[in-house]
Amino acid sequence: MRKTLYFKFILAYLLFGLFGFIVVATLVNNLLVEHCRQDKADKLYTEATLIANTYATDLYNSEVSLASVQRQLTALSAYLDSQIWILNPSGRLVVSSSEDVNTEAETYVDGFNPLITTGKNYAEGDFFQSFTEPHISVIAPITSDFKIKGYVTIHSPSSLITEEASSLLNISYLTLFMILLLSLIILIFFTEIVYIPLRKITAATEQYAAGNMHYRFNVDSDDEIGYLGATLSYMADEIARAEDDQKKFVANVSHDFRSPLTSIHGFLEAMLDGTIPAEQHDKYLKIVLQETDRLTNLTNSLLTLNNLNTNGIYLSLTDFDINEVVRGVAQSFEQVCRFRNISLSLVLLGEALYVNADLEKIQQVLYNLVDNAIKFSPQGGVVTIETEEKKNKVFVSVKDNGIGIPKEDQKLIWDRFYKTDLSRGKDKKGTGLGLSIVREIIRSHDENINLVSTEGVGSDFTFTLKRSELNDQFD
Ligand code: ADP
Repeated sequence: MRKTLYFKFILAYLLFGLFGFIVVATLVNNLLVEHCRQDKADKLYTEATLIANTYATDLYNSEVSLASVQRQLTALSAYLDSQIWILNPSGRLVVSSSEDVNTEAETYVDGFNPLITTGKNYAEGDFFQSFTEPHISVIAPITSDFKIKGYVTIHSPSSLITEEASSLLNISYLTLFMILLLSLIILIFFTEIVYIPLRKITAATEQYAAGNMHYRFNVDSDDEIGYLGATLSYMADEIARAEDDQKKFVANVSHDFRSPLTSIHGFLEAMLDGTIPAEQHDKYLKIVLQETDRLTNLTNSLLTLNNLNTNGIYLSLTDFDINEVVRGVAQSFEQVCRFRNISLSLVLLGEALYVNADLEKIQQVLYNLVDNAIKFSPQGGVVTIETEEKKNKVFVSVKDNGIGIPKEDQKLIWDRFYKTDLSRGKDKKGTGLGLSIVREIIRSHDENINLVSTEGVGSDFTFTLKRSELNDQFD
């Protein structure tokens, strides 16, 4: 494809030159010959009319001598590069610019007919067999007393016209050559601006097609081609990143599945071969049960995340009371809180605070955030859930005074499977998927979630929701 494009452009250039040459050689040539012929004829006719009205009339009125008229015509004919004759209506040569007319032996132009120039103002040919070479001839009548006394005829060889036309044609060829030379600039521009960048882009696409997404190239221009190059490299970067993510994801999933499976396998094997005595089976079966719970948890989270990631989440938006949802979620953690001696404090704005969102998904967000807050709080800690209203937004925050999240981890905790080093000891069951799910849900609502956390002090996750107009009706 690459060679063809350049080849096509060169071919177009050569065709342009060839057609230019053909046009100049045929059409322009004909036009020039025709133009020179007409121009010459016009000039000769003007001269002939002038002579007819001056010297020739004077001659017929016997005001000047034949010899003097002939001298004048000889001078003029040299200037016009042609022969000038004065003929009687019958065709007898009265005066000729080229030779003295012999009055004894009269010379006739046989078959002379002044009408041969009708239609045009000239005739081309041998002028009634007077010349061997083709000539252009013009005829102007000499009138006196309203009668035609004779004719002035001027004859110029056609070869002179062809010569003039061919010298003009040479100028046309030179012009064409200059145009072709100048249009080489277009070829150079095309090579620099289109062809070379396009080759780079094509080479890059070949590399990408072969799977080498890390191939780098540079198209340094700020036009459409530069934009195409930049977009292509951006696309390759994104694909490369997605591929890396995919690999990391599979590695993480495999790892997270393998450890509970290994422990289940180990315990069951030990029970079967008697390494674990029958009286301890209950204890280890409970651990096995816990591990299967963890696997179920992991599978459910993965499925949720997968559903959220598939093109555009379907949101079932309704107006609901977020305070009610907070109370419900808090209730479901009552048991755990009591067990861990953690108090749940609800600071809710008003009795009811309506938002417009997907109820089930927001429930899940709250559940994940409260679950984390409790998991990472010390015995006797306090988890506060707060609702607030600012402009058209409702702010929901989940705050704890637990282990906190180090600064360098705060960006990373939203990634799938990410767990901070601080938390690993505290939470063995965690999948590292909870916050990814939270972020996807909040994003799909076109809302934001923000984290303020200090290591050793606590964390505060705050997300926004769209305030419902229902609030105004109840105010
Ligand atoms: P997990 O299921 O492991 O809790 P998450 O995606 O919910 O996964 O959280 C990712 C990591 O972020 C956690 O493992 C923990 O390291 C950190 N984290 C989340 N919430 C808190 C919190 N409230 N306090 C301290 N660390 C937290």
